[in-house]
Amino acid sequence: MLMIRSLRTQLGPWASRASFSTSAAAVEAERTIRDGYRNDWSKEEIKSIYDSPILDLVFHGAQVHRHVHKFREVQQCTLLSIKTGGCSEDCSYCPQSSRYDTGLKAQRLMNKGAVVAAAKKAKEAGSTRFCMGAAWRDTVGRKTNFSQILDYVKEIRDMGMEVCCTLGMLEKQQALELKKAGLTAYNHNLDTSREHYPNIITTRTYDERLETLQYVREAGISVCSGGIIGLGEAEEDRVGLLHTLATLPNHPESVPINALVAVKGTPLQDQKTLSDTHRDREEKGFEAYSDSNTGLRQTTPTAITSDLASVDLQSLYNSQAERPLHLRL
Ligand code: SF4
Repeated sequence: MLMIRSLRTQLGPWASRASFSTSAAAVEAERTIRDGYRNDWSKEEIKSIYDSPILDLVFHGAQVHRHVHKFREVQQCTLLSIKTGGCSEDCSYCPQSSRYDTGLKAQRLMNKGAVVAAAKKAKEAGSTRFCMGAAWRDTVGRKTNFSQILDYVKEIRDMGMEVCCTLGMLEKQQALELKKAGLTAYNHNLDTSREHYPNIITTRTYDERLETLQYVREAGISVCSGGIIGLGEAEEDRVGLLHTLATLPNHPESVPINALVAVKGTPLQDQKTLSDTHRDREEKGFEAYSDSNTGLRQTTPTAITSDLASVDLQSLYNSQAERPLHLRL
C-alpha cells in the first residue's frame, strides 16, 4: 500500500488516470485456485479474460499453472510424421493436402523399424513422450495401416515412453483399440471457432471433430486439442475456440495453440504473419489512444498482445490435472 501511495505521489496528475482495477484474469485465477475448474463459461466471460492486460494474464495464468502443475517440470515430447502428404482433406493452411500444389511428395506409412529407431533416439535425447502423426482424413478403410500403428504404439509403450497419435478422425471402436494398445493421448485440433471453421475446411464438419474428441475421452485416452491463430480469424473466433474447449464436459489435458506458417501453394499462402498483424493493431492502438489533452500517444496492451493472451489462457482453463507443461520438439 505504501508503495502504491508513493507511486501515486510521484505520478502526480497522472495518478488519477492510472487504473488499479481488478482484471477478469485476476478474478478468475483466484476463483479457479479456490474452487477448481468449471465448464459453464459464457463467451462474455472468456472475452473479458482475453481482454485483460497482458501482464495480468501472464501473472495470474502463472499462478494457476503453479497451483495445478508441477511447475518446475517440463515434459519433452518428440513428434514424428509417420505418413506425410497425400491427404484428401482441404484444410486451407496445410501443405500436406493433395489438393494443393506445394511441392510436397506424398509418402507411405513408415515401417516399424524406422519408427522405433526414431522413438529410441527421442528417448536418448530426453523425451518421455513420442507422438506419431499421419496425414489422413481418418483410418477407416485402412485396416492394415491401423493395425501397424497399434503395433507401433505397443512397442513404444514397452520402451517406457508415453505415446500420442494424431491420425485424423476416429471411430469409437478405433479409440478403444488405441487405448488397449496403451495410447496415452490423442491429438485432434478444432483449429478455430465454429463460425470461422467453414472458411478454413469444408471436407469435414466441426461436429465430426467434436465427435472424435468424445470417442477419445470415452475410451479413457487423454485429449490434446487446440487450434491455429493467424487464419484470418477475428478475435471473437479465438474467444469462440476457447469457449468450445472450455465448455467441453472435461477440458482437454493439452491445448496446443499454433501460429500459422503460411506455405506457398496453399490457399492461405498470402496470409499476413502474426507479427504483421500485431504491427497493424499496434498502429491502430496508438491512433485510438492519442490523448487529446496532452498530445501524448498511448497504446493499449490488449491491442498489441492479444495473440499472446490466447496462449496464456490455457493455464486458466487447462487446470484439472497435476502434470508438467509439454514441450514438443
Ligand atoms: S487433415 Fe491434417 S494432414 Fe490432412 S489436410 Fe487437414 S491438416 Fe493436413
